[in-house]
Amino acid sequence: MKLYLFPVTIFAIFLISSPMNFKPPTAAERLKAIGSTDGLQETLRKALEPAGDFEPVPSPQPGDWLAVHPEAGQSFNEFLKSKSNRPDKIRSKIYLQPIGEFPKYQTPLVDTLKEYAHAYFAMPVEVLPPLTLSGKGITTRINNFTRNRQILTTDVLTILKDNLPGDAFCLLAITMEDLYPEPSWNFVFGQASLRERVGVYSFARYDPAFYGNKREKDYEKLILRRSCKVLVHETSHMFGLQHCIFFRCVMNGSNHLKESDSRPMYLCPVCLRKLQYSIGFDVVGRYKSLFYFYRKVGFDDDALWLAHRLEHILGPDAARTALEQKSEQ
Ligand SMILES: [Zn+2]
Ligand SMILES: [Zn+2]
Repeated sequence: MKLYLFPVTIFAIFLISSPMNFKPPTAAERLKAIGSTDGLQETLRKALEPAGDFEPVPSPQPGDWLAVHPEAGQSFNEFLKSKSNRPDKIRSKIYLQPIGEFPKYQTPLVDTLKEYAHAYFAMPVEVLPPLTLSGKGITTRINNFTRNRQILTTDVLTILKDNLPGDAFCLLAITMEDLYPEPSWNFVFGQASLRERVGVYSFARYDPAFYGNKREKDYEKLILRRSCKVLVHETSHMFGLQHCIFFRCVMNGSNHLKESDSRPMYLCPVCLRKLQYSIGFDVVGRYKSLFYFYRKVGFDDDALWLAHRLEHILGPDAARTALEQKSEQ
């Protein structure tokens, strides 16, 4: 079957509805995008209230994603109509496929990414044995500008499609190698086939050393945070979540590293509602798991944000009690 390929950098072009300049939605438009929460379970309803914890999406600066790709956005109701893939009893797991080396002390550890994906999606996550570049079927080249090795994404996607486990909701290859989607392209951060439920993403360009820059003291945490963020952003696309234009949100598009670094780790109420609908997780249990992950890896601001958010959902006393009882989902 033919693969339908979307290099991630051009994916949003398909979502453009208007050539007009992007105007951030009003407060009323943001609420409308969340949709009516009448009749929802109380903790979910509270979790979808913007309250003071979510900022509106800012007006884009020149060169930012929304200045270049003025997307129309996807409300919760539009997401429902899109009838995106949802996990079910058979296709119930997220699979990660490492490609090439993940050298210790230079890169995020695959087990840490697995733990994060498990907390984020509240679904089983499995890591497949790594694929080596010397194995069959993966074309490589040396990039003329960076002199770094790159691997051809379409070869990886073909292998993933052939290896898709029967119980996979999706299969995502992750690599520290740089990628290119076809010979005429300089590079691509990643590429996915949503219909085939496979994708490949590189973390190579999230390491300051890739550009010849000095690695600062906390560079390991920086690379881990960037990698965690791109992993959940791209995996959420697999659930049919399009880029967010309503709030500051991990699903905001990003056109450059500074913009991507300024994206938060959390989903805004519109995007949280989509993912919760798709997976059916308990929002409080998910926030608790994420809180412990953030504390463990030293993402203190993200843990603080979650503690504050749980106070809104449960009230201060119950939130404190909930975070004192460490629990596994
Ligand atoms: Zn995206
Ligand atoms: Zn969002």
